[in-house]
Amino acid sequence: MLCPGQEIQLRRVAATGIPQVGPLNGHVRDSIRMNKLTARPETAAETVDDRPMKPAMFRGFRRRCPRCGKGKIFNGYLKVVDHCPVCDEDLHHHRADDGPAYLTILIVGHIMAPLLLIVFIKFRPEPLVLAGFFMVGTVALSLYFLPRLKGLVVAIQWSRRMGGFGETVGLRPPS
Ligand SMILES: [Zn+2]
Repeated sequence: MLCPGQEIQLRRVAATGIPQVGPLNGHVRDSIRMNKLTARPETAAETVDDRPMKPAMFRGFRRRCPRCGKGKIFNGYLKVVDHCPVCDEDLHHHRADDGPAYLTILIVGHIMAPLLLIVFIKFRPEPLVLAGFFMVGTVALSLYFLPRLKGLVVAIQWSRRMGGFGETVGLRPPS
């Protein structure tokens, strides 16, 4: 006995000829959704969310491949590898651009600016001590967040199939 979501899924596969991508009982949504870009009913591949965003974001923040969570996403400090060394997922499609830098400034600014004010009001340290402490702290926090936020942005783009991320075919399954 099939549940309504599975029936719709099977009918859609029969109509479009596009094979099922994920498990029928996993992330199937049981109403027909419209693709916002093409204004057509979504295909089976689009309906099944085989790239859930939250786990991908966690993997990206840990600087790991958003698909398998094992392969390293960076070759060096910020250079994204072309393919995941473990599952072979194409990662060169990413267009993170300045996004991670904006996010880093946003987060580090919101941590350090109030802290600067509090330290200044409460302790009135020597200007050089204050400047030295906050310069080193700000640079260190920025260096910590920048690659992690870049991994996160790449993972979101991969998960939502932005840019060329939707066209990947012929992959090894994640182990
Ligand atoms: Zn991978």
